[in-house]
Amino acid sequence: THSWDREAIQLVQTLIPRETVLFIADVKISFDSFRNGMAATVNSKTIITVNPDTREASMLFSYAREVAESGALDQDEKAEDMSVDSITDVFTVSQLKEKAQESPEAFFGIMYSFISKLDLDSSVSKVIRTRCSRCKFQVTDDMQSCTNQLCPGRDQGLSATTGFDLLVDFSDHTGTLHACSLRSPVAEHTLGCTVKEFTSLTDEERTAMKWKFLLERCKIYVKILPSPKARTGIRGMVLACSLADPGEVKQHMSALVQ
Ligand SMILES: [Zn+2]
Repeated sequence: THSWDREAIQLVQTLIPRETVLFIADVKISFDSFRNGMAATVNSKTIITVNPDTREASMLFSYAREVAESGALDQDEKAEDMSVDSITDVFTVSQLKEKAQESPEAFFGIMYSFISKLDLDSSVSKVIRTRCSRCKFQVTDDMQSCTNQLCPGRDQGLSATTGFDLLVDFSDHTGTLHACSLRSPVAEHTLGCTVKEFTSLTDEERTAMKWKFLLERCKIYVKILPSPKARTGIRGMVLACSLADPGEVKQHMSALVQ
Protein backbone atom coordinates (compact mmCIF):
# COMPACT_ATOMS: atom_id res chain seq x y z
CA THR A 1 0.00 0.00 0.00
CA HIS A 2 1.25 3.45 -0.87
CA SER A 3 1.13 6.22 1.68
CA TRP A 4 -1.38 8.17 -0.43
CA ASP A 5 -3.67 5.11 -0.34
CA ARG A 6 -3.47 5.04 3.43
CA GLU A 7 -4.13 8.77 3.66
CA ALA A 8 -7.10 8.53 1.28
CA ILE A 9 -8.55 5.57 3.18
CA GLN A 10 -8.24 7.41 6.49
CA LEU A 11 -9.88 10.48 4.99
CA VAL A 12 -12.76 8.54 3.44
CA GLN A 13 -13.46 6.78 6.72
CA THR A 14 -14.17 10.13 8.39
CA LEU A 15 -16.72 11.19 5.75
CA ILE A 16 -20.43 10.96 6.31
CA PRO A 17 -22.34 9.68 3.26
CA ARG A 18 -24.54 12.34 1.67
CA GLU A 19 -23.15 15.01 4.00
CA THR A 20 -19.92 15.70 2.20
CA VAL A 21 -18.99 17.14 -1.18
CA LEU A 22 -15.58 16.20 -2.50
CA PHE A 23 -13.61 18.08 -5.11
CA ILE A 24 -11.04 15.68 -6.51
CA ALA A 25 -8.30 16.78 -8.89
CA ASP A 26 -6.04 14.38 -10.78
CA VAL A 27 -7.77 11.10 -10.29
CA LYS A 28 -7.67 8.10 -12.61
CA ILE A 29 -11.11 7.04 -13.81
CA SER A 30 -11.38 3.55 -15.27
CA PHE A 31 -13.86 0.75 -15.69
CA ASP A 32 -13.84 -1.64 -12.76
CA SER A 33 -15.09 -5.04 -13.90
CA PHE A 34 -15.38 -6.27 -10.31
CA ARG A 35 -17.80 -3.47 -9.36
CA ASN A 36 -19.22 -3.39 -12.89
CA GLY A 37 -18.97 0.37 -13.08
CA MET A 38 -16.63 3.31 -13.31
CA ALA A 39 -14.19 3.67 -10.43
CA ALA A 40 -11.82 6.41 -9.40
CA THR A 41 -8.29 5.60 -8.28
CA VAL A 42 -6.15 8.06 -6.35
CA ASN A 43 -2.44 8.43 -6.88
CA SER A 44 0.35 10.61 -5.52
CA LYS A 45 -0.83 13.59 -7.63
CA THR A 46 -4.44 13.44 -6.47
CA ILE A 47 -5.72 16.36 -4.42
CA ILE A 48 -8.93 15.88 -2.46
CA THR A 49 -10.73 18.94 -1.11
CA VAL A 50 -13.47 18.24 1.42
CA ASN A 51 -16.50 20.55 1.16
CA PRO A 52 -14.89 23.15 -1.11
CA ASP A 53 -16.30 26.62 -0.64
CA THR A 54 -17.68 27.01 -4.16
CA ARG A 55 -21.11 27.67 -5.62
CA GLU A 56 -21.08 24.32 -7.48
CA ALA A 57 -20.32 22.45 -4.27
CA SER A 58 -23.12 24.14 -2.40
CA MET A 59 -25.57 23.45 -5.26
CA LEU A 60 -24.51 19.81 -5.37
CA PHE A 61 -24.94 19.52 -1.62
CA SER A 62 -28.44 21.05 -1.71
CA TYR A 63 -29.38 18.78 -4.58
CA ALA A 64 -28.21 15.65 -2.77
CA ARG A 65 -30.08 16.67 0.36
CA GLU A 66 -33.24 17.54 -1.53
CA VAL A 67 -33.26 14.30 -3.51
CA ALA A 68 -32.48 12.17 -0.46
CA GLU A 69 -35.29 13.80 1.53
CA SER A 70 -37.75 13.46 -1.34
CA GLY A 71 -37.06 9.74 -1.46
CA ALA A 72 -36.28 9.90 -5.16
CA LEU A 73 -33.05 7.98 -4.56
CA ASP A 74 -34.82 5.13 -2.87
CA GLN A 75 -35.20 2.23 -5.16
CA ASP A 76 -38.46 0.45 -5.00
CA GLU A 77 -40.35 3.72 -4.68
CA LYS A 78 -43.15 2.67 -7.02
CA ALA A 79 -46.30 2.65 -4.98
CA GLU A 80 -48.28 0.88 -7.69
CA ASP A 81 -46.45 -2.43 -7.47
CA MET A 82 -48.90 -3.95 -5.01
CA SER A 83 -52.67 -3.71 -5.15
CA VAL A 84 -54.13 -2.67 -1.80
CA ASP A 85 -56.69 -5.49 -2.01
CA SER A 86 -53.90 -8.01 -1.57
CA ILE A 87 -52.56 -6.31 1.59
CA THR A 88 -54.06 -7.94 4.67
CA ASP A 89 -51.43 -7.86 7.45
CA VAL A 90 -52.35 -5.45 10.23
CA PHE A 91 -49.60 -3.79 12.29
CA THR A 92 -49.28 -1.32 15.10
CA VAL A 93 -46.76 1.49 14.61
CA SER A 94 -44.17 -0.22 16.81
CA GLN A 95 -44.65 -3.53 15.01
CA LEU A 96 -44.00 -1.79 11.67
CA LYS A 97 -40.81 -0.25 13.07
CA GLU A 98 -39.64 -3.58 14.46
CA LYS A 99 -40.27 -5.38 11.21
CA ALA A 100 -38.44 -2.66 9.27
CA GLN A 101 -35.39 -3.20 11.47
CA GLU A 102 -35.48 -6.94 10.91
CA SER A 103 -35.99 -6.93 7.15
CA PRO A 104 -33.99 -5.00 4.57
CA GLU A 105 -36.83 -5.57 2.09
CA ALA A 106 -39.80 -3.33 1.52
CA PHE A 107 -43.07 -4.67 2.89
CA PHE A 108 -46.73 -3.75 3.02
CA GLY A 109 -49.23 -3.47 5.80
CA ILE A 110 -52.38 -1.92 7.21
CA MET A 111 -52.39 0.42 10.23
CA TYR A 112 -55.36 1.68 12.14
CA SER A 113 -53.91 4.90 13.45
CA PHE A 114 -54.51 8.59 13.92
CA ILE A 115 -53.16 11.22 11.60
CA SER A 116 -51.17 13.26 14.08
CA LYS A 117 -49.59 15.67 11.61
CA LEU A 118 -51.17 16.92 8.41
CA ASP A 119 -49.98 20.33 7.25
CA LEU A 120 -52.71 21.16 4.76
CA ASP A 121 -52.94 24.74 5.99
CA SER A 122 -49.29 25.64 5.60
CA SER A 123 -48.40 27.44 2.39
CA VAL A 124 -49.68 25.78 -0.79
CA SER A 125 -46.09 25.45 -2.01
CA LYS A 126 -45.45 23.00 0.83
CA VAL A 127 -48.48 20.87 -0.02
CA ILE A 128 -48.24 20.85 -3.78
CA ARG A 129 -44.92 20.61 -5.51
CA THR A 130 -43.75 20.61 -9.09
CA ARG A 131 -40.88 18.32 -9.87
CA CYS A 132 -38.79 17.61 -12.93
CA SER A 133 -40.04 14.28 -14.27
CA ARG A 134 -36.49 13.22 -15.10
CA CYS A 135 -34.59 13.85 -11.87
CA LYS A 136 -37.35 14.74 -9.30
CA PHE A 137 -35.69 18.08 -8.55
CA GLN A 138 -38.16 20.69 -7.38
CA VAL A 139 -38.87 23.27 -10.07
CA THR A 140 -41.49 25.87 -10.89
CA ASP A 141 -43.83 25.73 -13.86
CA ASP A 142 -42.49 28.89 -15.44
CA MET A 143 -38.97 27.52 -15.80
CA GLN A 144 -37.73 26.78 -19.29
CA SER A 145 -35.49 23.95 -18.20
CA CYS A 146 -34.58 22.03 -15.05
CA THR A 147 -32.28 24.00 -12.72
CA ASN A 148 -30.48 20.90 -11.50
CA GLN A 149 -27.01 21.02 -13.03
CA LEU A 150 -26.89 17.24 -12.96
CA CYS A 151 -30.29 16.58 -14.55
CA PRO A 152 -30.01 14.07 -17.39
CA GLY A 153 -32.41 16.12 -19.53
CA ARG A 154 -31.20 19.63 -18.73
CA ASP A 155 -30.69 20.67 -22.34
CA GLN A 156 -34.19 19.52 -23.29
CA GLY A 157 -37.27 21.51 -22.37
CA LEU A 158 -38.71 21.19 -18.88
CA SER A 159 -40.90 18.16 -18.37
CA ALA A 160 -42.52 18.54 -14.97
CA THR A 161 -45.31 17.01 -12.94
CA THR A 162 -47.31 18.82 -10.29
CA GLY A 163 -48.96 16.95 -7.48
CA PHE A 164 -49.62 16.63 -3.76
CA ASP A 165 -46.39 16.03 -1.92
CA LEU A 166 -47.12 15.78 1.80
CA LEU A 167 -45.33 14.31 4.79
CA VAL A 168 -47.81 12.93 7.28
CA ASP A 169 -47.34 11.51 10.80
CA PHE A 170 -49.39 8.55 12.00
CA SER A 171 -49.77 7.66 15.67
CA ASP A 172 -51.34 4.89 17.68
CA HIS A 173 -51.00 3.71 21.29
CA THR A 174 -47.56 2.26 20.50
CA GLY A 175 -45.89 5.26 18.88
CA THR A 176 -45.62 7.56 15.90
CA LEU A 177 -44.52 6.87 12.37
CA HIS A 178 -43.06 10.16 11.17
CA ALA A 179 -42.96 11.72 7.73
CA CYS A 180 -44.82 9.18 5.62
CA SER A 181 -45.19 10.42 2.09
CA LEU A 182 -48.69 11.06 0.89
CA ARG A 183 -48.53 11.98 -2.76
CA SER A 184 -50.65 12.15 -5.86
CA PRO A 185 -52.72 10.26 -6.87
CA VAL A 186 -53.29 8.68 -3.42
CA ALA A 187 -53.61 12.13 -1.82
CA GLU A 188 -56.42 13.11 -4.21
CA HIS A 189 -58.40 10.00 -3.24
CA THR A 190 -57.72 10.50 0.46
CA LEU A 191 -58.62 14.19 0.55
CA GLY A 192 -61.38 13.92 -2.05
CA CYS A 193 -59.93 16.91 -3.83
CA THR A 194 -57.85 17.49 -6.96
CA VAL A 195 -54.70 19.62 -7.03
CA LYS A 196 -56.59 22.28 -8.97
CA GLU A 197 -59.47 22.31 -6.49
CA PHE A 198 -57.06 22.48 -3.57
CA THR A 199 -55.25 25.54 -4.93
CA SER A 200 -58.54 27.44 -5.14
CA LEU A 201 -59.53 26.73 -1.51
CA THR A 202 -59.50 29.53 1.05
CA ASP A 203 -57.32 29.23 4.17
CA GLU A 204 -60.43 28.41 6.24
CA GLU A 205 -61.45 25.66 3.83
CA ARG A 206 -57.98 24.12 3.96
CA THR A 207 -58.01 24.19 7.76
CA ALA A 208 -61.46 22.57 7.72
CA MET A 209 -60.17 19.84 5.40
CA LYS A 210 -57.25 19.22 7.74
CA TRP A 211 -59.52 18.81 10.75
CA LYS A 212 -61.69 16.33 8.89
CA PHE A 213 -58.72 13.94 9.14
CA LEU A 214 -56.49 15.16 11.94
CA LEU A 215 -56.81 13.05 15.09
CA GLU A 216 -59.29 10.77 13.39
CA ARG A 217 -58.71 7.04 13.34
CA CYS A 218 -57.85 6.06 9.79
CA LYS A 219 -57.25 2.83 7.96
CA ILE A 220 -53.93 3.27 6.19
CA TYR A 221 -52.33 0.97 3.68
CA VAL A 222 -48.59 1.59 3.74
CA LYS A 223 -45.50 0.48 2.00
CA ILE A 224 -42.56 0.48 4.38
CA LEU A 225 -39.09 0.93 2.97
CA PRO A 226 -36.21 0.42 5.35
CA SER A 227 -34.13 3.50 4.50
CA PRO A 228 -30.76 4.11 6.11
CA LYS A 229 -30.81 7.61 4.58
CA ALA A 230 -33.94 8.67 6.40
CA ARG A 231 -33.30 10.07 9.86
CA THR A 232 -35.64 7.48 11.38
CA GLY A 233 -34.20 4.63 9.31
CA ILE A 234 -37.60 3.91 7.87
CA ARG A 235 -39.67 5.46 5.09
CA GLY A 236 -43.42 5.03 4.85
CA MET A 237 -45.46 5.58 1.72
CA VAL A 238 -49.21 5.83 1.93
CA LEU A 239 -50.92 3.64 -0.68
CA ALA A 240 -54.46 4.33 0.54
CA CYS A 241 -55.96 6.15 3.50
CA SER A 242 -59.54 6.63 4.60
CA LEU A 243 -61.46 7.20 7.81
CA ALA A 244 -61.73 3.83 9.53
CA ASP A 245 -64.92 1.96 10.30
CA PRO A 246 -65.16 1.88 14.14
CA GLY A 247 -66.35 -1.76 14.21
CA GLU A 248 -63.41 -2.84 12.09
CA VAL A 249 -60.98 -0.90 14.33
CA LYS A 250 -62.34 -2.53 17.46
CA GLN A 251 -62.01 -6.00 15.97
CA HIS A 252 -58.40 -5.46 14.85
CA MET A 253 -57.16 -3.43 17.79
CA SER A 254 -58.41 -5.90 20.38
CA ALA A 255 -56.40 -8.57 18.59
CA LEU A 256 -53.29 -6.34 18.58
CA VAL A 257 -53.52 -5.30 22.21
CA GLN A 258 -53.47 -8.90 23.49
ZN1 LIG B 1 -34.34 17.55 -13.84
